[in-house]
Amino acid sequence: MDYYSNQISKLIDELSRLPGIGAKSASRLAFHLIHMPKEEVKRLADTMVEARENVRYCKECCTLTDQELCPICRSQTRDHSVIMVVENPRDLAAYEKTGKFDGVYHVLHGAISPMRGIGPGDIKLKELMERLSREPEVKEVIIATNSSLEGETTAMYIGKLIKPTGIRVTRI
Ligand code: ZN
Repeated sequence: MDYYSNQISKLIDELSRLPGIGAKSASRLAFHLIHMPKEEVKRLADTMVEARENVRYCKECCTLTDQELCPICRSQTRDHSVIMVVENPRDLAAYEKTGKFDGVYHVLHGAISPMRGIGPGDIKLKELMERLSREPEVKEVIIATNSSLEGETTAMYIGKLIKPTGIRVTRI
C-alpha cells in the first residue's frame, strides 16, 4: 500500500539502499529532504554526483583522490621508502590524524576473507607488488591491516609475498 506519494516512496526506497539506513531512517531522511530549502537539496545532490564522477584511485597508493596522485604521494617531505599498508582510506585518515607517520601508504580496499569469498585478487595487492618492483627505494613495508581474522590472514599473505624481495616487513 502506498501511503505516500509515489515520489516520496521512491525517495525512501533509494535512501534505504544505502548501508546502515533502515526503513525508519530512510523515511526520516526523506521527510527531512522534502522540507529542506530547494537550493540546499540541489547542493547536496550536486556534491554527491561530482564526488562520484571525480574521485578515483591514486595511481600510486590506491587511496581515493580527485587527482592523479594523492597529496601524500605527491609530497616531497614524506619518506617514500616506508610504505604502510592499510585496509581502507578511513584507516589512512586515522593514522594521518596521529601525525606520527611520515612515510607513504598503500590502500588495499578490503581484506582477504575466504568466508566472504574475497580473495587476494579482489583487493589492491597486485598494485602493491607492482609498486614495490617499480620503486627500488622502498626499504620497509609496515602492514597495518586490522587485528580481525581477515586482517591477520591478509597480513600473513602479504608477508609471504614480499619476503622473497628482501624488503623488510613489519606488522602493527
Ligand atoms: Zn597516493
